Amino acid sequence: MTHRKSELPERQMPRRFKILSVEITGPHQSKVSERPDPHAAADIVKVQVLVAPMCTEWQNWREGKHSCELGHEAVGVVVDAAQSKRLKVGDRVVVMPHAGCGTCPACEAGEHIHCTEQRDLFVETSSSSGIGCYAEYLLKPDYLLYSVPEDIETDHAAMAVCALGPSFTAMERMRVEAGETMLISGCGAVGLGAVVNARTIGARVIALEINPYRAELARSLGAEHVLDPTASDIIDQVRGLTGGHGADAALETSNNPAAPPIVLELVRARGRLAFVTWSGELPVKRITGKGVEIYGSWHWNHQRFGEQMMQRVRDARPLLDKLTTHRFAMADVEEAFKLQATGRCGKVLLYPGAVPHAEPETSL
Ligand SMILES: [Zn+2]
Ligand SMILES: [Zn+2]
Repeated sequence: MTHRKSELPERQMPRRFKILSVEITGPHQSKVSERPDPHAAADIVKVQVLVAPMCTEWQNWREGKHSCELGHEAVGVVVDAAQSKRLKVGDRVVVMPHAGCGTCPACEAGEHIHCTEQRDLFVETSSSSGIGCYAEYLLKPDYLLYSVPEDIETDHAAMAVCALGPSFTAMERMRVEAGETMLISGCGAVGLGAVVNARTIGARVIALEINPYRAELARSLGAEHVLDPTASDIIDQVRGLTGGHGADAALETSNNPAAPPIVLELVRARGRLAFVTWSGELPVKRITGKGVEIYGSWHWNHQRFGEQMMQRVRDARPLLDKLTTHRFAMADVEEAFKLQATGRCGKVLLYPGAVPHAEPETSL
């Protein structure tokens, strides 16, 4: 496969259009800006964004990290398929993050998120916008777009990115089964998505969270207990709820550097532990002593698990409606960032167009 710019055919589309996308302009400051229209080329497809779930971008807003290309989660519609043989105009697709090369061993196995040879979509398409999802249009190699089955609603399909994806993989690799006790550390959007995955599998959930809003949301999603991870007797509390042994499996989502060694203590001997986070350290002595299996899990493999993920989305519909607590039009992105900074939300959805009518069950 070649992606050299000189070998790409000339696109005939006039380059006079502008698109709207979110820009962070300073600490606690953002606006919707006009940007150049991105161009599809070769296997890089142009997608009109229908909905962009918000992830951790609000932290960049808080810190004032300037960017015009925000967001890595979306569901959209193909508007220019260029030379793609996988997709055509009008296809509704889940947009996977990043731009893995598509040809290395990780990508060939469908593990694109772990690719170390990211493609430069700007260079390959002669575009200067279209990498971020908080925008009207984006660009993506066609193998990183997953067609949404007809029967799945756009907002539900959008939960297949970071809301369900990281914990879906973690639980698949930990082989979590119905009836097992799953401990979930942290109830942000990823942790709450983990509660949804665990409950849909049929596992019992013990969650850790200090934010009262999120603790209540975790309970409403089916967590049997939500405990304060800073309690001095947290290890005894969890052992007391698990026959004295600890949880069968645990997932750390809080990204608190103090969490990993505590979560390790909350897993039973020969249990399983997964991380979707990037902070903290573990004592090798305790890993070996307990014989715990440990997994690093970043995202999900749409090539291998696409159908299972879509079935998970179907099975979890009522919970996904509860998980999605707020919806904003892109024009109101500043309000969305402010809300996320309070932590009083579950998954927040951003729409380049108007917000669709929210279903009554979305209120907590
Ligand atoms: Zn690759
Ligand atoms: Zn995300």
